[in-house]
Amino acid sequence: MSSAILTTVFVLALAASLAVRLWLAGRQIEFVKAHRDTVPAAFASRIGIAAHSKAADYTVAKQRLSMLHTVVDAFLLLAMTLGGGLAAIVAWTETLPASPLWRDVALFAVAGVIYGAINLPFSWWHTFRIEERFGFNRMTLSLWLSDLAKGLAIGIALGLPLLVLVLWLMRAAGPYWWVWAWGAWMAFQLLVLVLYPTLIAPIFNKFTPMGDSPARERVEALLARCGFRSAGLFVMDGSKRSGHGNAYFTGFGKAKRIVFFDTLLVRLAPEEIEAVLAHELGHFKLRHVAKRVLWSALLSLGILALLAWLAQAPWFYAGLGIPDTMLDVAMSRPGVALELFLLALPVFTFVLEPLSSLYSRRHEFEADAFATRHASAAALSVALVKLYEDNAATLTPDPLHSAFYDSHPPAAARIARIEALSTRPPMPLAA
Ligand SMILES: [Zn+2]
Repeated sequence: MSSAILTTVFVLALAASLAVRLWLAGRQIEFVKAHRDTVPAAFASRIGIAAHSKAADYTVAKQRLSMLHTVVDAFLLLAMTLGGGLAAIVAWTETLPASPLWRDVALFAVAGVIYGAINLPFSWWHTFRIEERFGFNRMTLSLWLSDLAKGLAIGIALGLPLLVLVLWLMRAAGPYWWVWAWGAWMAFQLLVLVLYPTLIAPIFNKFTPMGDSPARERVEALLARCGFRSAGLFVMDGSKRSGHGNAYFTGFGKAKRIVFFDTLLVRLAPEEIEAVLAHELGHFKLRHVAKRVLWSALLSLGILALLAWLAQAPWFYAGLGIPDTMLDVAMSRPGVALELFLLALPVFTFVLEPLSSLYSRRHEFEADAFATRHASAAALSVALVKLYEDNAATLTPDPLHSAFYDSHPPAAARIARIEALSTRPPMPLAA
């Protein structure tokens, strides 16, 4: 394979993914705007026109920002690869008075700073312009900055040892370094899973055990009915940052915690909280989480094997913007292959996005069905409508945009299925 072929394929794939993303975003904006002034019939009695138009405007505002971000990212990627950006960073780090491994770490640091500097204004605009305008933002600039600093510190504390280990394995572990790197990656993910609930999440939020309440009684009865053991029910001060509500599981094995956002508890009735939790329980009981972990483990093994193969091919570097005069240097530094690969990979995995979305939507339907068997379907439907309203999620997404990206089924399809299931008699839980 010649480098010219890779360059051509890369540019075509980047142009195609950019065109598809912008086309879908444009469709979404047009579709949502066209349905802005009429609440869909299925929701007419439950959602007012003001909330519906607000959701439409919010969706359009977010979509416009994401279109700009998509274009900026595409140009940044071109500048970093074929534009010679990464080559310049390689050349500069080569002059540093450090060992080759630490020169590679410096390469990642410089690329990270560039990407961070480009992404930061988008994140600021999202929080302080869009979320603010629609009344969701509760963050001050100082909280936003302190989140940023904490996130960076945790990223370095956890990410740097992993990066150093992988770069070391790439040099020292022989032709099968990728199997070792995969093991390190799996162990790292497990470690984060263990550390997240007890050490990482509390750095950002306060978690208090859920007090005695009718909601707590219902939740505990549900857990007992489903034979689910957890290490505790917690309430998180989500209202510190945003008006959006949520509930989730964290940790694994017997150390699983259930976390409710305070915003959710305020908004939903006890029966509705129970139904929302039953949906989340469904994801666990139906092994959705385990299946996702397994898929991602297989995928990352394949991706690392691909990287190991590409890292030895001169056309891989030359085809993505490393000049011939620098090939020897680049190929002697595994960090170059790793960074180049991580930059270029999303252009090619873009086509997998609809598959992953489809898989996820199937799981959502299954979790909803589980919830209707173990809690009230009517309450789940009411809770979801409230959450759609509170999160200003559009009820009228463009069907193609939704099929491509959405991890959750469109509101109308979801509610219709839940209500169809609600007429069914409850089923006893199999052991
Ligand atoms: Zn779900």
